[in-house]
Amino acid sequence: MAGAEFGFELRVCAWAERHWEPADPDSRVLVARQLGTRRRRWDTVIVEADPAGLSARAAFGADELDADLLDVVRHAPADWTYYRDALPDPGYPWRYVREAIHRASARGVLDERKRANRIEIRRVAPYPDWVRRVVAVENKPDLDASAARALAAQLERDVALGLADEVWVATRADATRALVTEMPNAAGVLTVGAGDDAADDATDEGRDPEAGERDALAVDVAWHPRTLDPDATGVRVTDRGDPTAFEYVDPAEKRETRARLAERAYGRGWRAYADTMRPDCRAFDLRAAEEGDVPYCHAKGREQTAAECSGSCPDFSPEPPGWRQRGWPIEGGPGKTVKRLLDRRRRRRRPGLDERDGDA
Ligand code: SF4
Repeated sequence: MAGAEFGFELRVCAWAERHWEPADPDSRVLVARQLGTRRRRWDTVIVEADPAGLSARAAFGADELDADLLDVVRHAPADWTYYRDALPDPGYPWRYVREAIHRASARGVLDERKRANRIEIRRVAPYPDWVRRVVAVENKPDLDASAARALAAQLERDVALGLADEVWVATRADATRALVTEMPNAAGVLTVGAGDDAADDATDEGRDPEAGERDALAVDVAWHPRTLDPDATGVRVTDRGDPTAFEYVDPAEKRETRARLAERAYGRGWRAYADTMRPDCRAFDLRAAEEGDVPYCHAKGREQTAAECSGSCPDFSPEPPGWRQRGWPIEGGPGKTVKRLLDRRRRRRRPGLDERDGDA
């Protein structure tokens, strides 16, 4: 991903977290980035969540439930039951189900016991129906003609499949309006004012970066999307040759995919970049941008991309042990502090986690 696109994407995510207006005014908004399926990945995913359901989801912890765990916890009974009586036939060997049961039990999201050489399970809580809507956003700050054509084709496929309730493209407001008209009518268009990439070098070190005033990011709706129908049969284009090959996707499969996407959004959010970048490098910093913080590299004198901020970066310089003295090596150092800070912010959008885990 180009550097400009990474920073743009983080700004769009931060903006959406603060300003997205859900269809139901009381919905809670979760934002995640770089989520998708085997076939398709979206830059930004917005989940509009039922407030009570979202709180109830916290009973299963901060981490996402993968497809196997989700299958188990959703069907787990209120009372101890032999697992094969409780769960639907998986259509594959039961030993994989048993593995999922053991993992779920180790995670504390399912109760498991052995009686008369049989595995019995019991739920720790009912898994809630917490997802109201899913919105997919493609971030393309700099659309040239060929990028716009490729994006339009991709969005047409998204619309035909109808996995999300809405699909959008977010692009810079300047010089792209003509290209925006190439997008399919059903896709919405957000225009984003050019961020102040050359802002001064003041950083957030030593303060709460969410405190204080920020300039808001100027985001406008240039085109409203059509609301799609995730409960209808979708059409998946499998080959854009001549003739185009496609297959139908039934609503049950779409519901499953949405549930898994929502779980990933819950677990990852949009700040997980710290897990793959090197906040433990002495040049790493978080810098206040319009709506939230973005990574900043003092060695490069600019915002670095997620790809270039790695152990193989020629400018990488590990934070010295002296920085880590308090709590080193488990808790100390600015690198760990950055991760904790970002994790705390993710948790703020996930009510109920603090009561369960007690560590936020
Ligand atoms: S010097 Fe390299 S590794 Fe260190 S913060 Fe900058 S980009 Fe990341």
